[in-house]
Order: sequence, then C-alpha cells, then structure tokens
Amino acid sequence: MEINQQRLVDEFLELVKIDSASKDERLMADALIAKMGALGFAVTEDDAGEKIGGTSGNVIGILEGQKEAPALLFCAHMDRVHPGLGIKPQLKDGVFTSDGTTILAADDVAGIVAILEAIRIIQEQRIPHGRLEILFTVAEEGGLFGAKSVDASQFQAKAGFFMDAGGPVGTIVTAAPAQKGLQVTIHGKASHAGVAPEEGISAILVAAEAITKMKLGRIDPETTSNIGVIKGGEATNIIPDKVELRGEARSLDNDKLDVQVNHMVEAINSTCHDHGAWADIQVDHSYSAFGLGEDDVAVKLALKAAQAIGLEPSLERTGGGSDANIINGYGIPSVVLGMGYTNVHTTSEAISVEQLVAAAKYVLSIITTS
Ligand SMILES: [Zn+2]
Repeated sequence: MEINQQRLVDEFLELVKIDSASKDERLMADALIAKMGALGFAVTEDDAGEKIGGTSGNVIGILEGQKEAPALLFCAHMDRVHPGLGIKPQLKDGVFTSDGTTILAADDVAGIVAILEAIRIIQEQRIPHGRLEILFTVAEEGGLFGAKSVDASQFQAKAGFFMDAGGPVGTIVTAAPAQKGLQVTIHGKASHAGVAPEEGISAILVAAEAITKMKLGRIDPETTSNIGVIKGGEATNIIPDKVELRGEARSLDNDKLDVQVNHMVEAINSTCHDHGAWADIQVDHSYSAFGLGEDDVAVKLALKAAQAIGLEPSLERTGGGSDANIINGYGIPSVVLGMGYTNVHTTSEAISVEQLVAAAKYVLSIITTS
C-alpha cells in the first residue's frame, strides 16, 4: 500500500493554486466535487453558502463500505487566511513554500490531498473498508462558520479525523478549549473637557477601571482570557462618551469559561454603576470545549493506526478551536491530526513532501486498521 508520491505532490500544487478565500470557496468546491465524484463518492453540497453569505456550501462525500467496520469521518477545510490569493508554490529540497508574497495554504490543502490520495489507493487496490464520510468545510478560518451550518444527521461516523493541526504527523489533538467572545460598548456622557468636565462621564476612564479589575491572561492551567481591542474618543477637549471593547475567554472546562466571562461582565457593570455610565454587553458563544480519553474510538483508532505504520504518536491538547470543536458538539468524537506544516498563517508557511506523504499514509492506515 504505497502512496503515489508524485500524484500527491501534483495534486497539492494544483489545489494551492486555486483561489479559495473564506466565504469564496466556489472554485475549490467545484474542483473537489469533481475529484470525489471520480473516486466513486455520492457527493452533495449543502446550503451553508446561503446561510453565511458565501459562494459555496460545505462539500460532503459518502462512500458506502463492504466490510464490518465503524463509519469514519474525515474532514479538512477548503478556505485559507489572507494573503492567500494567487499562490505560487515553490518546491525546493523537498519542502514546499510560497514565493514569499502569500501564505502557502498547506493549511489546509495538505489535509485535503492526504484524504484524497488515501481514498485513491483504497479504490485502486480494492481495499475493503467501512463507510467513509468526507466533509470539506467552508469558512473555517475566523469563525468555523461552515461546520456550524452543517447538518450532522447525515453522518453515521463513530469517529472523526480532522486533518488540521500543527505538529508533526503523529500528533493527535484530543482536547481543545471552549471560547466565548465579548463585545462591549461603554456609554458615558460627553462634555467640554475645559469648560465643564464635571458634567461629563468619561467612558475611557470607566473602561480603564473596569479592565484593571479583570483577571486576564492565563487564569489557570485550563483557562485564558484577553481584552484585544479598545476603541474610543474623538478629541482631547471632549470627555469621551463612548468606548468599544472586544475580548475573549477560552477554557478546556465549559464551567470555568462561564465563571471567567461572568467575572468580566460583572467588572464592567459594577464600574459603570459606580460612575453613572452604562454598558451594552454582547457575549457570543463561539464554540464548546471537547476532551477525549484514550478509550474513545477516535483516539484508540488514531493510536493503533500510527503504530501500524511505525509512527510515533503524541497525544496533545491545544489552546485553539477548530471545526472539530463543532463536530464533537454534534456527538461525533473527533480528534485533530498534526499535518507537519509550519509557520501557518504567515508568508513563511512550509510543509515537506515527506510529511505530506506521511499524512496520506496515516489516513490510509486509519481506514485499513479500523
Ligand atoms: Zn486550518
């Protein structure tokens, strides 16, 4: 069961050159629908595009199996971050990079081609398999919007594998935090700063005092929090009547997350109350946490498949969310697998051919050992 390295390399180069910004994945979706159709999948595109204002929906492929094995879900995202248009991939000494003006989009084209190549081997060599389900999502970057819109009732998977983590192939992410976002507008009262300062209520002072009351940064080993944006004020001679704050909190524990968010909201409300200001506070639930143990099917299978091909597995937790948070929330226990790419979301993003081949082999091993 050898991976066809040249074919994998060619497909990687082909797909990174297809423009596929978040909410504008049309060209990528069309290419993948054709490829999956050719591999014998029943392919559909859902209505996520209409729901989120994008040009494409999530692409879903189902391949029925011939052997008694748990149905498996493989997932990667079709979109990429900026600057990710007009990518000119370079291959030098076995390592892919961009030409330096864009990202490479190995995140997450590497995941897509690893899945496709593994399935191609399965089909060519008529390797018996269970039901295979593939989900290529839209708009993962910046909000997990595609995964949030997917109808999970069409999946029968007992385990999910997301080809979308940092770290070398063999990295198995089994836990990721929940996240909530805070959007706050603090309203004070404007007044002339020189003529009648005592008639004003400075929204900047209120915001500053509220923020200093907050525990921020690393709250405990599982929880983090940040105020990342502060905007307000018009001129030095006006007591500012409005300040906007944007922040977030994350935790591997959903309850701890609620405690932290309530603490931040309370700091704002009590400070406003003390100064006669008021605040508009919006809390967005971005995604829930997940945490799988070594007894969960997805983890067991990922470990067994790694050992079967001599890969050193490493179980890890991450501080970031991904589509796997959403799909775990739908009741499909899912891990995120390391793809071996480095410096993602920067113009020095890179991945080696060796890691790309290892990722495809790993997908193949998951299918054959299930
Ligand atoms: Zn990604």
